[in-house]
Amino acid sequence: MSRVLVIGCGGVASVAIRKCCQVDEVFTELCIASRTKSKCDALAESLKGKTKTVVTTAQVDADKVDEVVELIKSYKPDLVMNIALPYQDLTIMDACLICGVNYMDTANYEPEDTDDPEWREIYEKRCKEKGFSAYFDYSWQWAYKEKFEQAGLTALLGCGFDPGVTQAYCAYAKKHEFDTIDTIDILDCNGGDHGYAFATNFNPEVNLREVSAPGSYIENGKWVEIPAMSIKREYDFDCVGMKDMYLLHHEELESLAVNIPEVKRIRFFMTFGQSYLTHMKCLENVGMLSTTPIEFEGHEIVPIKFLKALLPDPASLGPRTHGKTNIGCIFTGKKDGQDKAYYIYNVCDHQECYKEVESQAISYTTGVPAMCGALMLLTGKWTDKGVHTVEEFDPDPFLDALDKYGLPRSENHNPVLVD
Ligand code: NDP
Repeated sequence: MSRVLVIGCGGVASVAIRKCCQVDEVFTELCIASRTKSKCDALAESLKGKTKTVVTTAQVDADKVDEVVELIKSYKPDLVMNIALPYQDLTIMDACLICGVNYMDTANYEPEDTDDPEWREIYEKRCKEKGFSAYFDYSWQWAYKEKFEQAGLTALLGCGFDPGVTQAYCAYAKKHEFDTIDTIDILDCNGGDHGYAFATNFNPEVNLREVSAPGSYIENGKWVEIPAMSIKREYDFDCVGMKDMYLLHHEELESLAVNIPEVKRIRFFMTFGQSYLTHMKCLENVGMLSTTPIEFEGHEIVPIKFLKALLPDPASLGPRTHGKTNIGCIFTGKKDGQDKAYYIYNVCDHQECYKEVESQAISYTTGVPAMCGALMLLTGKWTDKGVHTVEEFDPDPFLDALDKYGLPRSENHNPVLVD
């Protein structure tokens, strides 16, 4: 029995909500709240008669702490699932603290306005101290650790696939496969084709900011930053085949370096097709990825927001995307004094996802772990108080839930390594 408030009703949230409704013995009551209430109403309507979960809807602007507090006070949830955008992480965490409710999200905080001087000053200091320049990092949310601990509450950060399941794979490898881990390579392959020359698989603004930023990895405890897309490898992915992949900065590198400090090198690679890269470079070169507002014919517009309005809605890609994703982690290290390698991954089929929840696999592979993370908190499998990332919890019940609810693991004890 539980009451859950989901904030956001986009591509990922829609999958998470549909999956929660499949587990109606745990998710007995659920409120979908977002900026545009009509989307919440449409989803609630489509779920009628398909679940025992009692679904209600509400309007909320989650940029405003007061509005979120008012909603939490009236709905009285056991858990708030933030599946809106990373921009709302801190306001929703503040509201959860005020109301005494557990919190979870799927991506770490980044500001919507990266020109804000107050934020910029802290950001530039961090770039110098830490050595990576991504706009997002964990420091903003880790700063809430003590407050959540003292309130006896849990905040679960980044519980999608990557971040999320990839960290559970790391915790699993550490618990069952290795005495010490030397290297981790996280490989995110999307072998899907939606037929458009250019579209993003999740929120275009967040996606393009991430992909156009410099890459970075961790070596011997230090960040090494490289120009965007400057390290390329080829890899033959199970069920997908040979793909080009590029080294990116990614948020879980930061928490893994803290929580598995013995690891000498942690890298993250993502596959991209040439058409995507050429379009992105061109859009970047002409200034369309900029977040700085410009004056256009008497209106102020933010170039990347305007671009978002032109691009296909990621939620609309479902029916036209074919192919599979393959996301996982390759480890090297030692067990009982012997060198070993281990690869754990999931393969997910875009069309199978569409048949089940009317979504492509990128939203599916994020929404299912969000539901499974909520399940861990609501059923008392994960109880540590404070602010935590996925690798800090027992991976076994979480991976069992993923096996059961649509993202089963595959393993390879003799994988090809990435050079
Ligand atoms: P979408 O853009 O599809 O959906 C975002 C939703 O949040 C929309 O319903 C939007 O409402 C709502 N929203 C935005 N601002 C507010 C606000 N101020 N108040 C209330 N609601 C708001 O994004 P996705 O579903 O693609 O992504 C959701 C999250 O998942 C993002 O944080 C993304 O970074 C993360 N993600 C994580 C991954 C992982 O593996 N960990 C992978 C992919 C995504 P409206 O309809 O009005 O715009």
